[in-house]
Amino acid sequence: MRIAVVPGDGIGKEVVPATLPALTALSEAFGLGIDYDVFDWGADQWLATGVGLPPGAIDRLARDYRAVFLGALGDPRIPDMAHGRDILLGLRRGLDLYVNYRPIVLEHGVIDLYRENTQGLYAGVGGSISRHGAVTVAIDECVYTREIVEHFVRHCLGRLREQGRRKVTLVHKSNAVPNTGRLWQDVFRRELAAFPELTGSEEYVDSFCYNLVRDPTPYEGILASNLFGDIISDIGAALMGGLGLASSASICPETNFALFEPVHGSAPDIAGKGTANPYAAAMSLALMLDHFGHGAAAGLLRACVTGAAGSEAATPDLGGKGTTQQFMDQVMAQLERELPNRRRVDVDGRPAAAGEL
Ligand code: ATP
Repeated sequence: MRIAVVPGDGIGKEVVPATLPALTALSEAFGLGIDYDVFDWGADQWLATGVGLPPGAIDRLARDYRAVFLGALGDPRIPDMAHGRDILLGLRRGLDLYVNYRPIVLEHGVIDLYRENTQGLYAGVGGSISRHGAVTVAIDECVYTREIVEHFVRHCLGRLREQGRRKVTLVHKSNAVPNTGRLWQDVFRRELAAFPELTGSEEYVDSFCYNLVRDPTPYEGILASNLFGDIISDIGAALMGGLGLASSASICPETNFALFEPVHGSAPDIAGKGTANPYAAAMSLALMLDHFGHGAAAGLLRACVTGAAGSEAATPDLGGKGTTQQFMDQVMAQLERELPNRRRVDVDGRPAAAGEL
């Protein structure tokens, strides 16, 4: 199973290389056969050559790889993020990664946040008119097709059912944004009828944000459009304890191709200092292992990363003094302690029974 690794910019170039040894160790121990190639797509390449996502990249990824592991895109030398849009939106649209899963992991449990990832206000429909160098008219259209909303809602409800969830909340703003808002409500209500295990509710995005911050415990599953989901995931990261903790998966349910990345950006303020928290990147790898059915390896990685976050190796954003490398050294040390018991396992990731070892 080949993975395309794109460290990207800023702290992406620190947290991604730091976490890869853990992936290799787990792959070897659990017999997962995961291999990867590193691609230097990002700001440096854009500034040197003008190329973001190279021609033919989408076809090659779809043919030769099962997933992308991305660090972050963003660079102060490119204030309009042109390269980031080219690469990230190119990957999302080119590979049809329309389901974005961003778990909000809290003390009481996990809230499964699903965000539509390709349309809405991020569809790129609009334009602007300038006079004498200043923009005088600016339009960004919110575009949704019934087809994508149906596919998205159906897939997410199915996932929530598989995960044993009982409640799902649609976040919208149909009182102020009525056209796409009502489309979402209509699809949500119709699709929900096929999932009697799930109790649905609908909330306006503004009051939802207020309620989530005051008390997140009633929520189990959340479905949101592109813009609302993006904002809610940052609120979720704040509830979790910081952007360094939030991980994500962007999935095409039809092909199963997926992209895994931390929610945080390139964080230029701390880039190069070696203190970026690799937690979100490592947890994105755990999502990748889960996605491909290697739940035992994912669970072990999560346990080791959580352990490191509570140890002396914790990075400054968690109140510790550790560096990115020290954090991952701690993860690797714990993995090495656990892995000898699991070295001989079958390809499905099923730990061998005692007699088989
Ligand atoms: P970009 O322009 O790429 O979005 P940004 O700095 O605007 O970068 P983020 O990278 O998402 O946005 O980060 C916001 C702040 O959160 C950073 O300035 C940094 O202080 C903190 N932060 C984000 N990720 C991490 C991390 N992995 N470890 C520690 N701090 C982080």
